[in-house]
Amino acid sequence: MKKCPFCAEEIQDEAVKCKHCGEFLIDAELRGLRKDAGVKWYYKTPMVILWILLLQPLALPFIWKNPQYSIIGKIFWTIVTIAFTVALGIWALEKYAQFLKSIEQMGL
Ligand SMILES: [Zn+2]
Repeated sequence: MKKCPFCAEEIQDEAVKCKHCGEFLIDAELRGLRKDAGVKWYYKTPMVILWILLLQPLALPFIWKNPQYSIIGKIFWTIVTIAFTVALGIWALEKYAQFLKSIEQMGL
């Protein structure tokens, strides 16, 4: 026996349709599969990736307050954010070093 998610009455495990309220349970399971249904747009994974690209460390609240991610997911995206921030920092430092070098070569 399991509980109907709509009316909370006991129903057969194999039931596709609740005999008490007439709701289709297959439907509910399919809705459950769409994990990001009802998740706010700025918490969806493509947006989270965009926040990381645009905001780097400031994207962390979007990860840690995200109802969609488990603790593993949060840690994973935090590592991605840190890795990207560090890579961007190294790239910026290299560009800055190149800039200083080119100023030197200009004899300023
Ligand atoms: Zn029911």
